[in-house]
Amino acid sequence: HNTPQMLLGAFLVTAGCVSLRRGMQAFLRIPRTDRTHVWLLVGLAIFNLGICVPLEWRAGGMLAGGLSASWVLWQCARETFAPIQHEFKGGMGHVHNGIMGASIIVFAGITITALFPDVYWPWYRLSDLTGHFAMVFACVTLTISSSALLMYMVVMRLVHRLEHLSHHDALTGLLNRRAIEMMLEREVQRLQRFGQSFSVLMVDIDHFKRINDRFGHAAGDAVLSAVADTLRSQAREVDRVSRYGGEEFCVLLPHTSHDGAALAAERLRDAINQIQIPWDDDIITVTVSTGMACATDRHEHLRSLLRRADEALYQAKAEGRNRVVICQKTTSLRAA
Ligand code: GH3
Ligand code: MG
Ligand code: MG
Repeated sequence: HNTPQMLLGAFLVTAGCVSLRRGMQAFLRIPRTDRTHVWLLVGLAIFNLGICVPLEWRAGGMLAGGLSASWVLWQCARETFAPIQHEFKGGMGHVHNGIMGASIIVFAGITITALFPDVYWPWYRLSDLTGHFAMVFACVTLTISSSALLMYMVVMRLVHRLEHLSHHDALTGLLNRRAIEMMLEREVQRLQRFGQSFSVLMVDIDHFKRINDRFGHAAGDAVLSAVADTLRSQAREVDRVSRYGGEEFCVLLPHTSHDGAALAAERLRDAINQIQIPWDDDIITVTVSTGMACATDRHEHLRSLLRRADEALYQAKAEGRNRVVICQKTTSLRAA
């Protein structure tokens, strides 16, 4: 007597699973399978509502609905596992698969129950009321856990994005001043505790104002991006490159002292000299001046270290630009 409702329900559950899978595909940026979904839903609508309802063939409709919903969830679990594990860590892919798997089991239970109404199913025939309650309880629990997991993933993605925004520069994608200062502070602590020295480069583009004045601000931005790309690609994996101010970059070289840092600074300067940026009918080239300071004194403050690098940079500018100057003093002022 309630066959139409049940078969409509089976169809709607499949449609819900399809929209869940489609949402996951969009969220995780994996290929959409819209065409398959349309065929599946149209086929199921015709079979369930066009054939099974008029024929009062409840078993066929329930089986078709249960199978298609389970297939969609299975596919969803299969294709989202790796992307979820990759982005959210902490075994979130397993949690998601667990919820998908539990849903498939519940659908299978409901389908089997409807397929063989005369069999004594312990979960259904306890009494009609208990059976219904168990079913509703299972569905609601799964819906809530699935929503909670989705909410967690959305929030975590937002948190990661905000973290990234607050630590990176929008134009060049390099670390920003706040981020590099945090890393420098950590490096200073490492020096205090373990005596591990490191070096800092302050890299400033020469006569950058002229580039802006002659070619325009957009050209200046292109130069900044090109210099940033060069610094990033020439620096070692462990080095940290940041945009410290307008056209000034700060490079942290962990575990590196005088000779190594001087070599690195010279290599970076040379690589930036090679940059050629076509602009209108011209080719823009740039040079940089670099001030370098090594942190070897366990008692030196970060402010003093940065001041030494800055002093060396000013000296490089004064001596004619396009060069690296190494601060020879170990400490300028201890507790500034
Ligand atoms: P010097 O060789 O002494 O370093 O000369 P300079 O012209 O490079 O130095 P100055 O500090 O006088 O000029 C820096 C210029 O950088 C001024 C400012 O307009 C420009 N600038 C700062 N940030 C940006 C930016 O994001 N984009 C562009 N296009 N220009 C910027
Ligand atoms: Mg400059
Ligand atoms: Mg400057």
